[in-house]
Amino acid sequence: MKNILKNINLLYVEDEEETRNELSYFLNKKVGKLYTASNGKEGLEIFDKYKPDVIVTDIMMPVMDGLEMAQTIKEKSKNTPILLTTAFNESSYLIRSIEIGIDHYVQKPINPYDLTEKLVKSSVSMFHERELKIYSRYARFILDSMQVFIVATVGHEIEYINKAFLQFIGYNDFEDFKHLNSLDSIFTEINGVQVNFEEKSFEWIKQILMDEHDEQFVYLTSQQKHESKPYLVTVNRFPERNSAIFSFTEATKLTKERESLQIQATTDGLTGIYNRRKFESLLTKEIQKATRYETSLSLIMFDIDHFKKVNDTYGHQIGDYVLQELSRIVVNNIRRNDIFARWGGEEFMILVPNNNLENAAQLAEKLRGIIATSKFKNVPTITSSFGVVQFEKEESGENFVHRVDELLYSAKHNGRNRVETKV
Ligand code: GH3
Ligand code: MG
Ligand code: MG
Repeated sequence: MKNILKNINLLYVEDEEETRNELSYFLNKKVGKLYTASNGKEGLEIFDKYKPDVIVTDIMMPVMDGLEMAQTIKEKSKNTPILLTTAFNESSYLIRSIEIGIDHYVQKPINPYDLTEKLVKSSVSMFHERELKIYSRYARFILDSMQVFIVATVGHEIEYINKAFLQFIGYNDFEDFKHLNSLDSIFTEINGVQVNFEEKSFEWIKQILMDEHDEQFVYLTSQQKHESKPYLVTVNRFPERNSAIFSFTEATKLTKERESLQIQATTDGLTGIYNRRKFESLLTKEIQKATRYETSLSLIMFDIDHFKKVNDTYGHQIGDYVLQELSRIVVNNIRRNDIFARWGGEEFMILVPNNNLENAAQLAEKLRGIIATSKFKNVPTITSSFGVVQFEKEESGENFVHRVDELLYSAKHNGRNRVETKV
């Protein structure tokens, strides 16, 4: 530890030549570099020129006294340690020296070991502080050079925001932002729920911390652009400081990819309506709902009549077009809550929640009529056959589907272009 003194440059200010020479001899062996001065003014000049790390100074000196010099140095560089050498008759200076922020006192006549100990102490804390400053500057430099948005909070106070985030919300530096010190209004959505927080409600912090271990998405809008983008949230907590670091990574691409995967997995490529897999999962859910809330649930199945002939006569491409056009017609004639899916080939399903057999049969009849009278370019007429059933308590999904399939078969058997509701 004592070697630490080899790394410091020290300024020693003392007007009495004998004392100065004596202590200089000792200090020269201890410290890296020693500067000496015989009064405050000289000391100050050396300080300005060489920026010594630590100062040891006498109090009473001609031209400028030690305290005046110390005060000026502390004003310029408050972290530079200053040690005051004091005689017994100089205690009246004590109060002023405390105000100035003198770091240590060494009794005269000076005991070299006492002085050394105090020099080591000051140096250690000085180096420590310097290192912390460098580290924190370095940490900030790293955070500021990142495109990810980073914000550090202590409790509800925002302690730090990195450059990219400040720019996004329209501030040049943190000092500007401090006037507002709130981010609430830039959040438009948290984990799929639309939000509209009051400034300084700090709701965003509370809500994100509630689910801190889950994958979280938020939508943020910059004050200028009025356009919301999705961001993936990461939270790191430091409970011992009641502090958290939030980072927000732009996830537009990720969100789009997920959405498109989701769409791919649930929709039919040709018609854009739900595919069979999605239909089956929705069927299960609707059956659960109907059972729990004791509401009615009906199912319509239909199949294009003699579709094979359409393909054979006009070609597969026209066949595809008919499937697309027919799907479009149906989508335009059912309600938002109705679930429409391609069951396979030219077979379709419509799940009709909150409707009994009669209502669903009416819908099927309406669709049958619309399809039969619609114009499909090149193809004279397209008709379809329909089966309709209402969900019966405690029957399985398979049974529900099986019953409607049977009725569709009856409709075909009974002449096509018709709706069957009873076996
Ligand atoms: P029915 O009135 O008894 O239903 O007669 P159909 O000819 O419609 O029935 P069938 O099951 O014999 O033939 C269905 C045809 O649908 C055969 C198949 O080539 C055609 N098909 C199935 N999927 C597609 C498709 O995606 N595009 C086209 N163009 N045709 C398809
Ligand atoms: Mg003196
Ligand atoms: Mg058919």
